[in-house]
Amino acid sequence: MGFSTAAEFDQAYHTVQDTFASGATKDKGWRRQQLKRTWWMIEDNRDRLCAALYTDLHRHRQESIIADIGMLQKDILHTLQNLDKWTQDEIPTRWDPVNFLGNTRVRKEPKGVALIIGAWNYPILLTLQPMVAAIAAGCAIIVKPSDMALACQDVLVDIIPQYLDTSAVLVVTAGAQEMQHILDRPFDHIFYTGSGSVGKIIYAAAAKHLTPVTLELGGQAPAIVTPAADIDLSAKHIAATKFQNAGQICLNVNHVIVDPTVREAFVEKLGQYFDTFLGGRDNRPDYYTHIINERNFDRLDRLLRESSGQIVYGGQRDRATRFFAPTIVTGVQPSDSLFSEELFGPILPILDADLDGAFSITRKTGRPLGIYAFTHSEAEKRRVLNETQSGGVTFNDCTLHVLPSDAPFGGTGTSGFGYYHGPHGVREFSHLRTYINAMPSWVEGLLSARYPPYSLEKTNA
Ligand code: NAD
Repeated sequence: MGFSTAAEFDQAYHTVQDTFASGATKDKGWRRQQLKRTWWMIEDNRDRLCAALYTDLHRHRQESIIADIGMLQKDILHTLQNLDKWTQDEIPTRWDPVNFLGNTRVRKEPKGVALIIGAWNYPILLTLQPMVAAIAAGCAIIVKPSDMALACQDVLVDIIPQYLDTSAVLVVTAGAQEMQHILDRPFDHIFYTGSGSVGKIIYAAAAKHLTPVTLELGGQAPAIVTPAADIDLSAKHIAATKFQNAGQICLNVNHVIVDPTVREAFVEKLGQYFDTFLGGRDNRPDYYTHIINERNFDRLDRLLRESSGQIVYGGQRDRATRFFAPTIVTGVQPSDSLFSEELFGPILPILDADLDGAFSITRKTGRPLGIYAFTHSEAEKRRVLNETQSGGVTFNDCTLHVLPSDAPFGGTGTSGFGYYHGPHGVREFSHLRTYINAMPSWVEGLLSARYPPYSLEKTNA
């Protein structure tokens, strides 16, 4: 399937503009109906979606159901259950007489027409979860799936118009070139998931129209292992996280910084767990995800070849199928090629440092989306929270902070800004519009200081 033409995009843009202006998407009944239809769209097309995920990523059905599809359906049900609560007016505290007498309210109004730009690594979840939040907020929407997961893009282009209101939720396809035309138009919100380099292009384009933006980016998330960790369980969690989607997860462990006193035991355990997950060191199981495309395969291949570290596990790879084995590299210095950018793949560099060294290395790589600290010392946990900055933190496991339904998810600094998940997503697509009624007329008698001619006696000043 080719990309949308400029004329097709313009038509879609005017359609959603007109629909939003009509007020149709503000109706709570409409929002509920679209959310239910989104749930059924996923349910009815599970097999097609799993097949597309296999085509694009060679991802096993179980992983696709749990991570892409299951999380999305859970989020839709949670949103339906809480729609009224999350979208109702807020009443500021009553102690202020202006609030009390004026009956102040904060209305959550949809921002307008939202553009949602998806990423390829979870091409269903990361495109449709923001869409769910935008529908719940009452926005009209243009959805732009990633052009790097083409099979998933094609399924979304086919099913979205079959299930959702074609005057209010439209899907367009675009690569980098077509995006220039799309980003020329003013939107009321842009929600972007992807790399920081493209994030800057989106942000600059949005600035021309003063369009608010959510940037869900990535970064070099470290796992920090101290001597106060359970070494076996740390290795298990880190290996399992790196195995998932072959490391192509924004929240994934990019590298491990391990205290030198426990490094040897930790690396040995890591290898054992990769053996278990692969079903044998040289096995290439069908349930292991491959690298999305040759460009990313070549990038990982080059970073590994240029590294001065030692490959102590894995390293096998095959460009034709884009299989890239989980690979442990020890003796990595902060100046190494493997440390020059977010890996977004199954290579796991190991750096030696104590907790102070881990903080200093982490501060030099921007602010990651997550930090995973493996320690059972409460004092060390407090230090992690106080002495580092990141989107979120998980102690003694990886990526868990993305899961709680109502907790905000988002980056900081180089990992982006803005939040979503649960009420935070609905808020991201909403404008908080305060309104107040004039105070009762009998209050006028107490307000003489408001009116000129001014005199200090009126205010006792
Ligand atoms: P990407 O930036 O290449 O692409 C993301 C989206 O931007 C795609 O829809 C793509 O079509 C579009 N795009 C590409 N070039 C463009 C351009 N020049 N102008 C306008 N739009 C353009 O990102 P990616 O490779 O798909 O994803 C990998 C990155 O995304 C990693 O850095 C990862 O950490 C991050 N990520 C973040 C999250 C999160 O939730 N924070 C989730 C997944 C991925």
